[in-house]
Amino acid sequence: MEKFTIGWEEWAALPKLGLPAIKVKTDTGAKTSALHAENIQLKGTRLNPKVSFEVSPDPDLPNIRILCHAKVIDQREVVSSNGLSELRYVIETPISIGNKKWDIEITLSNRSSMTYRMILGRSALEKVTVRPDKGFIHDKISLDIYNKLPKNKPVVGRLKIAVLTRGPDNYSVKRFIEEARRNNHQIDIIDTKRCYLNINSASPEVHYDGEALPHYDAIIPRIGPSITFYGMAVVRQFQAMGTFCLNSAEAIGASRDKLAAHQILVRHKIPMPNTAFASSPKDTSNLIELTGGAPIILKLLESSQGRGVVLAESQKAASAVIGAFRGLDANFITQEFIKEAGGSDIRCLVIGRKVVAAMMRSAQPGEFRSNLHAGGTAKKVEATKEEKDIAIKAARTLGLNVAGVDIIRTDQGPKVLEVNSSPGLEGIEKTTAVNVAQNIIKLIEQNVRSLQSIKK
Ligand code: ADP
Repeated sequence: MEKFTIGWEEWAALPKLGLPAIKVKTDTGAKTSALHAENIQLKGTRLNPKVSFEVSPDPDLPNIRILCHAKVIDQREVVSSNGLSELRYVIETPISIGNKKWDIEITLSNRSSMTYRMILGRSALEKVTVRPDKGFIHDKISLDIYNKLPKNKPVVGRLKIAVLTRGPDNYSVKRFIEEARRNNHQIDIIDTKRCYLNINSASPEVHYDGEALPHYDAIIPRIGPSITFYGMAVVRQFQAMGTFCLNSAEAIGASRDKLAAHQILVRHKIPMPNTAFASSPKDTSNLIELTGGAPIILKLLESSQGRGVVLAESQKAASAVIGAFRGLDANFITQEFIKEAGGSDIRCLVIGRKVVAAMMRSAQPGEFRSNLHAGGTAKKVEATKEEKDIAIKAARTLGLNVAGVDIIRTDQGPKVLEVNSSPGLEGIEKTTAVNVAQNIIKLIEQNVRSLQSIKK
């Protein structure tokens, strides 16, 4: 019998997931098919695990978000396109292309920056012939079909929210409390370090001061650099319990490792200053040349608030600093110095798919670092469309729902300096008068709402 033929790209439907139209690309380099899903939450029991997730079937129509649920048939280690290995849930569901329908295995991954929301791997293509020279042999399915689907019901009642923090008295935490209460939600403050985790039991728990914590609808992780490792474990545990985490452990980890973040962002064609990485280089001058020669910026990878960032104005100064870093056995990057930025950068606060506030930070005279902690001043600024797009793309690429993206204006256009997964609210709220905390609570409401409608 002749095999069913499909093009290298096609319009498909995943009827059991409630996805009537999605563009797929065949990828014989991959074994299993993959679907780009967000807010992946484990549900069900250990013996009968289920997963819920959201899919926006078209990258250009981010407002179409479909809630899907499926049985988990396996968990598999998959190397994703950014080169990192990731443990993914595997589901099985029917796919239809043209008039043919068959069951396939799909892994779920929350990488949303891909052009194709779904790829069909070898295992899904066993029973079909793929024409590598031809796309769309079968009819296009219009995305209009999504407009006819029923909408989610709004959430009723209050949410139970927790802030994971080591600084219960800081401005950001106080603002979350204020805005959550104003919207009638319950909010608890949890000291990340006092949590301990029961990771063995069939139903994962987080313990705190001798008792298992109740179920939270959402948590707001405020994980500082000093406790990234443990903080991520706590966040992961909440994820396993089906709690909506404002930023996932994976996304916090990806952005916290500055070098990994840089590699991922560059791979996704997000403009960034020319950068080289070194640990203990012997050939100092070559390293300096790699970034275009002095003056250059040297940054300790563990830096925050501008503390480990140095401007070396001459080759000699650069060599001396590199020598000192080498003595400390510290990992560092060298970066082209963006002189034309004049000591300013732009902090864009990304919430969901929007830049809700932006401020320009400027260094004090004689200083190139604009960090407020380094004596910089801030003023409200309207980021350009290009800057906003880059900021949103950077946050999405790292999988962050909320991020502070620092952008520097260069002669070649805006470039991303850094993406922060726990941006402080004080500077940006006071400078721009935007109610950032409220915007974050709204995002939580929307996300929990979608998860609650899945449970019905
Ligand atoms: P940190 O994470 O410690 O804040 P950043 O990389 O954000 O480190 O650098 C701190 C500040 O130094 C930035 O806000 C910016 O003002 C300035 N800066 C950083 N990199 C460059 C660069 N390549 N060219 C010019 N100024 C820079």
